[in-house]
Amino acid sequence: MSVTFQLSQIRETLPPTIDLVAVSKFQDLSAIEEAYHAGQRMFGENRVQELLFKYDRLPKDIQWHFIGHLQLNKAKYIAPFVDTVQSADSLRLLNELNQCAGKFNRRIPTMLQVHIAQEEHKFGFFFEEIEDLLRNKSLDSFVHLKITGLMGIATYTEDQEQIRKEFSSLAAFFRKMKNQYFVDNADFKELSMGMSDDYRIAVEEGSTMVRIGSKIFGLRKNTDKKLFES
Ligand SMILES: *Cc1c(COP(=O)(O)O)cnc(C)c1O
Repeated sequence: MSVTFQLSQIRETLPPTIDLVAVSKFQDLSAIEEAYHAGQRMFGENRVQELLFKYDRLPKDIQWHFIGHLQLNKAKYIAPFVDTVQSADSLRLLNELNQCAGKFNRRIPTMLQVHIAQEEHKFGFFFEEIEDLLRNKSLDSFVHLKITGLMGIATYTEDQEQIRKEFSSLAAFFRKMKNQYFVDNADFKELSMGMSDDYRIAVEEGSTMVRIGSKIFGLRKNTDKKLFES
């Protein structure tokens, strides 16, 4: 199945207001180019080296979303060009990103990653931590960041009800934070949830942005992997 075909299939099932981030991690340049020529502009990557490699070689109007755990010392490499960091998962990272963005005179759209899965290893803030940050106005000094919403990854499970519960609780939390802390701030509007296997549930539960990889590109290839790593 071609990338172009898969993309059009997914677009058909998505309400038009929902943004689609094509997760291109581990995919080679030609697959991304095919999606680009089919009209796709938002792409998601989760490793800095790989993103830099692709950024250098692909059209400059691609909107790159960083969706993986970002190490503090690597924020500076993507700060000049990244469209959105979806995976801010600590106050220290937010602070570092803010400083890097300042150096490039940017205000980087940034989403707070929320830990909603049962797995221990997934990154992200807990609900209470985000509420504390907002209540204490801890993010207000980050003038080079624009907090655009929340991102979450559901548990990797066959249990659809479990997934639905996690997305629905994240959506409720998003609405609560919006009402309490961002009523007059139109920037805070994105709820990024949903991947290949669970995006339909995510959309039903209120997602505004889905991140889809394998359903567009097929299984992840490792062919160029060596090129991406330093
Ligand atoms: C890999 C990844 C995706 C896409 O996963 P698929 O199951 O291939 O659609 C989405 N979000 C994040 C954070 C990812 O790391």
